[in-house]
Amino acid sequence: MKNSPPELISCRHSKPALKKFFNSPQCRELKDQICDMGRRMWQRAYVEGNGGNLAVRVGRDLAICTPTMISKGFMKPEDLCLVDLDGNQLLGQRKRTSEILMHLQMMKHQPKAVASCHCHPPHATAFALIGEAPPTRMLPEFEVFCAIGVAPYCTPGSPEMGKLVAELTGHCNTILMASHGVVTWSGKNLEEAYWRMEILESYCRTLIAARQLGKPIKRFSHGQMKELMKLKQGFGL
Ligand SMILES: [Zn+2]
Repeated sequence: MKNSPPELISCRHSKPALKKFFNSPQCRELKDQICDMGRRMWQRAYVEGNGGNLAVRVGRDLAICTPTMISKGFMKPEDLCLVDLDGNQLLGQRKRTSEILMHLQMMKHQPKAVASCHCHPPHATAFALIGEAPPTRMLPEFEVFCAIGVAPYCTPGSPEMGKLVAELTGHCNTILMASHGVVTWSGKNLEEAYWRMEILESYCRTLIAARQLGKPIKRFSHGQMKELMKLKQGFGL
């Protein structure tokens, strides 16, 4: 399913109109999807405590996002928040996550981004701790679905952090945040942003395991990479 934003609704609409929209079946479906992805992140140990956050762009200048101080594994649709693209909370009983500013800066910088996913999967975060992207040209899925970059460390939730990440969204859909974690985005829907997280984490885990075998890891040749890039284009990625 594509999270296509309804063009008409915007933060300039009246509170009752926003409320009606936020309680519509369309938003309910997105809220269910956010809770589902949160559960999947928690079950795979990609988040700990109240860490991680998710956002989906809706309308012209709005986003539904996760609240602060809640385990992402146990959210209910009524826990979610509606914010404008500057991070002002418009609706929702719980307070929005402070890290939403980063998601919104990504969405403003990259108009194609409709959904974003941030968490701390341990093997990918291990690479974030050394401030280096994992080497590429080793596994097909990673080459096809993830375009990786590394953002330097900044205090989580600060506008500077959001700016550094947003600047990478032009050519990266999977971004390691040094000494912190990972954020992914999708131009299609939240599930695709989450898949990128799974693919990256699995790749990093496999790579770390392969390094322990003590033999050189084989890398794709130029010709093999060309074939994979053709596949990628075929998927419209
Ligand atoms: Zn974080």
